[in-house]
Amino acid sequence: MHELGICDAMLKMVRGIMRDEGLEEVMRITVEVGSLSGVMPNFLADCWVAVTDGTELQNTEFVIEELPGTAQCMDCGEEFTADLNDLTCPKCRGKKLMPMTGRDLTLKEIFAP
Ligand SMILES: [Zn+2]
Repeated sequence: MHELGICDAMLKMVRGIMRDEGLEEVMRITVEVGSLSGVMPNFLADCWVAVTDGTELQNTEFVIEELPGTAQCMDCGEEFTADLNDLTCPKCRGKKLMPMTGRDLTLKEIFAP
């Protein structure tokens, strides 16, 4: 339950920001999920609903933006958009890949009225 822990941490982070900025409510939260982060966006959304249920953030809109990840082939040096379902170099069919981007999950924006 990786996603649940992430949502829990995110909830704490959002509350910290609300406290620091004196916000009483948040209308929308946008998170960026890299395609190589291993986080499943649908599952993340479900977990967010679960952790915010009954809290001041239960009506906050939760927007997930998916960011394509890139990887580099360690055999031929090719850089390409990587998909976790197909981790093969498109050029040489090599399997030794190094993730370059798209491994992160970032809290991108908090929108308050
Ligand atoms: Zn290659």
